[in-house]
Amino acid sequence: MDSELPVEMYFFPFVGGGHQIPMIDTARVFSAHGAKSTILSTTLSNALRFRNCIHRDQTLHRLITIHVLDLPNDAAKSTTSMSAAPFTDTSAFQQPLKHFLSQHPPDCVVIDIFHRWASEVIDSLGIPRIVFNGNGFFSRCVRQNVGRFGPHEKVGSDSDPFVVPGLPDRVELTMSQLPIFARKKSGGADKIGQLEDKSFGIVVNSFYELESKYVDYFKNDLKKKAWGIGPVSLCNGDEADKSERGQAASVDEEKLKWCLNWLESKEPNSVVYISFGSLVRLSYKQLIEIGHGLENSTVCFVWVIGKVFVSENESYEDEENWLVGFEKRMREIGRGVVLRGWAPQILMLEHKSVGGFVSHCGWNSTLESVCAGVPMVTWPLSAEQFSNEKLITDLLGIGVQVGSREWASWNMERKEVIGREKVEAAVRRVVGGGDEAVEMRKRASDLLEKAKRAVEEGGSSYEEVDALISELKSLKQN
Ligand code: UDP
Repeated sequence: MDSELPVEMYFFPFVGGGHQIPMIDTARVFSAHGAKSTILSTTLSNALRFRNCIHRDQTLHRLITIHVLDLPNDAAKSTTSMSAAPFTDTSAFQQPLKHFLSQHPPDCVVIDIFHRWASEVIDSLGIPRIVFNGNGFFSRCVRQNVGRFGPHEKVGSDSDPFVVPGLPDRVELTMSQLPIFARKKSGGADKIGQLEDKSFGIVVNSFYELESKYVDYFKNDLKKKAWGIGPVSLCNGDEADKSERGQAASVDEEKLKWCLNWLESKEPNSVVYISFGSLVRLSYKQLIEIGHGLENSTVCFVWVIGKVFVSENESYEDEENWLVGFEKRMREIGRGVVLRGWAPQILMLEHKSVGGFVSHCGWNSTLESVCAGVPMVTWPLSAEQFSNEKLITDLLGIGVQVGSREWASWNMERKEVIGREKVEAAVRRVVGGGDEAVEMRKRASDLLEKAKRAVEEGGSSYEEVDALISELKSLKQN
């Protein structure tokens, strides 16, 4: 077997949001299992963001490399913007990709679902196409059955709950928690679904033990061909991998260093970490409520503030001054740190002092919390995050809801503002040391052990990675 050529896999991540980060990890996982992984990047500047960890893998003699596609300038730029996805006219990219793939045909291409345009090219060359869309099994099943059965069409108002039919558990949602595009009348597969159905299969960043009923439901009832290969973030064993991973904004290195030192001085599980992912923009009004909620909770915190939602022609001087004053006050009394822009999330969550995570329930953040054994305060905002919240709180029992009810796109102004009392109460429940928190932490630690076992030799995800490689190998031989 060893004398055989390795299976050659191309990975084509979408740059925006939490799409690229897990896809890079996925390429690394497959190369660790002996495949030859090539990551296709649309721009050099983007490739530079993950080059270091790939170099480190190469020094371990893994077969992994980066290829920057030769795209026209404008086309390359528009593939890096989340606001362009997935609607851009991408005909300008198709020719260069086709040229590259026909010169260097791999055994399969794993594409992000937002690169829909690439599907046509890959399919026309007869190359097996595997889809990655960044979600877990549970939310996929919810989405599928809402689309199939249309339970939301029968409710009286946006806030009336409905049960999602057909699922192994009773799952309730409201219309206001559904993505806008999922609220239309049911009937017919959506474009994304069609592309998946015509693909060779779907790789899912999850593991069997986390959502087993839904892995089975997805594969057996919904008849989807899928491999659960995660949590792929666990491939970041190295400290350097963890601190550099996915960095998308500038970081105040001095403050970060101070923050990590400060964490060292705190009791185990006494600090709450707050971050809403790489995309979402909260309003100043919401940020100020969070600030008051944290202050009133008396819990220590690390709060990462990413982009802020601002309306044109409005001045936010008072609000910004409040935040600056809050930050100074909290740091002086040793209560908390505010980081602007970006923080190395895995490093933060894995720190022994961090005992809770206030999160928007992005799937990567959810898995990273599981992989750190840290319970969550769930604050879904967009995408499939409201489904993820149900999994975290109702099914897995590793989080409490802050009470978010309104789905809005990551770049839209949201009407709902969660008040300081709700923030304070939820944070206390998770990091306050009560029995509920202890129970949640126990369940989270148990899942952490299962996650680690899943990616070890003989584990469920480990076997799935090998199964996909074997399938591609036999395809190649035939
Ligand atoms: N992330 C990070 N530091 C930050 C913000 C985000 O490392 O300050 C990473 C986080 O670890 C996760 C990804 O960015 O891997 C965010 O993905 P997720 O699916 O949670 O949310 P999205 O950004 O897609 O809304």
